[in-house]
Amino acid sequence: MSNPLDLISKTAYLKFEQCQKAFFFYKRHPYLRDKVSIDKQLTFSRGHQVGDLAQTLFPGGTDVSKQTKNSADALALTKTLVENKTPVIYEATFTFNGALIMLDILCLENEKYTAYEVKSSFKISEIYLKDACLQYYVLKNALPNLEDLFLVTLNQDYIFENELNPKQLFKKRSVKAESEKNLPYFENQLFNAQLTLEQNKIPNIAIGAQCFKPYTCDYFGNCWKETVADNSIFHLPLLNKEKLFEWYNSGIRTIDQIGEEHDAKAIIYKIKEAYFENKPIIDKERITAFLATIQTPMAAMDMEMWGPAIPKINGTKPFEQLPYLVCFFDGNIHSNIFIDYTKDERKHFAEELIESTKTFKSILVYDGTMEKMVINNLAKLFPQLKPELEELKNKFIDVFDIFLDFSYYHPAFKTNFSLKTASSVLLEDIYYSKITSGLEAMAYYDQFRLETNPVEKDIIKEELINYCKTDTLATYRLTEFLQKLIK
Ligand code: SF4
Repeated sequence: MSNPLDLISKTAYLKFEQCQKAFFFYKRHPYLRDKVSIDKQLTFSRGHQVGDLAQTLFPGGTDVSKQTKNSADALALTKTLVENKTPVIYEATFTFNGALIMLDILCLENEKYTAYEVKSSFKISEIYLKDACLQYYVLKNALPNLEDLFLVTLNQDYIFENELNPKQLFKKRSVKAESEKNLPYFENQLFNAQLTLEQNKIPNIAIGAQCFKPYTCDYFGNCWKETVADNSIFHLPLLNKEKLFEWYNSGIRTIDQIGEEHDAKAIIYKIKEAYFENKPIIDKERITAFLATIQTPMAAMDMEMWGPAIPKINGTKPFEQLPYLVCFFDGNIHSNIFIDYTKDERKHFAEELIESTKTFKSILVYDGTMEKMVINNLAKLFPQLKPELEELKNKFIDVFDIFLDFSYYHPAFKTNFSLKTASSVLLEDIYYSKITSGLEAMAYYDQFRLETNPVEKDIIKEELINYCKTDTLATYRLTEFLQKLIK
């Protein structure tokens, strides 16, 4: 390979697997990439934390990434470390046949190398497997004595007690057999990837299902900007991508082109009408029946969960969802329960939750799936509280249902029925501040727990409460909106 910039990193290769055009953009036009969302950045940072912890399984290694600034240096340092028979190397960097890989952990024992690739998840997805097989392919050719390559994932049965035990927190699975089988595949794919670069022109690839698989493509904004006009069929809810692309590829691009002959569900034609007239779908009968189930006194409720990949509280597992904040709004007063989890405070939370809700006959939630799951877990954990927790769950009225079953649908929702979308379309006085998602709130909560300055701590806490509070206000106001609608 003449141009060192043409080395194909693992990220670049995985883009090639998804779409040749995405790969070409990544290598030649990286500026076309969409802005990385905060949720994505947080997922990356969680991956790094888990990766750092996994290094403690093989302590004392030399970290190549910390001592080098570019891939040429990293390759040179790795070469030296291998020549010196360094027993443990982190981020060891190798190249073969134009591919460039950085291994999370490489260990030398009895003159044989074993490699470990760490993933901050429980399951091994197809993409993780491909990623690991590519590394195996490079490593097998770059190192003469490779014994095996393992994918290291989190163990979902691990329960934290007093002190973290990385040996039990992680589990590993060999990918040697799959990798050996697929060596010719990678040889061929790398050849094709290099050819794509040599041709030096944007591959002629139309948008398709690949834009979403396995992840929404980083160049989505660029390729889709003309497709997603206001009346694009891709704004239709309920239809799966397969159906939408079947229509798209047969020339149907806009909602008005959908005719009776396309044999869609009746609701799709109703939505088409709503788009045309720019008027919502309103099923007054169903909304009336739904609202009749609400009893007063009522309050809107929203819960925030904390699910660290690496458990920190006794008795909890990786990613276990712990409720740390619940907010209520009864139409006049906002209140909340905030838990800082200096120890296991789940029982205290459950008791406070029961106490705070016992005067209400109905609890309004917006997509209460998570809240129900948390309450079920608390009931399992504290069977003596089960009857009261069950009673609380039975008071739930899920406002989301009205939007989900199209009793109310506004064309401006497009395919998004989230509380933030519904409130921004239908309400005027709802403003979210800094925090914009549950994942972001979780990162704030992590910050809150680490903060030692009490003033800073209070500011973060206030921010979290405001976020949760806004959700309860939005839920309550949406219910009022529906009530006004049927009057
Ligand atoms: S958006 Fe779709 S077509 Fe465009 S580069 Fe990405 S996967 Fe390829």
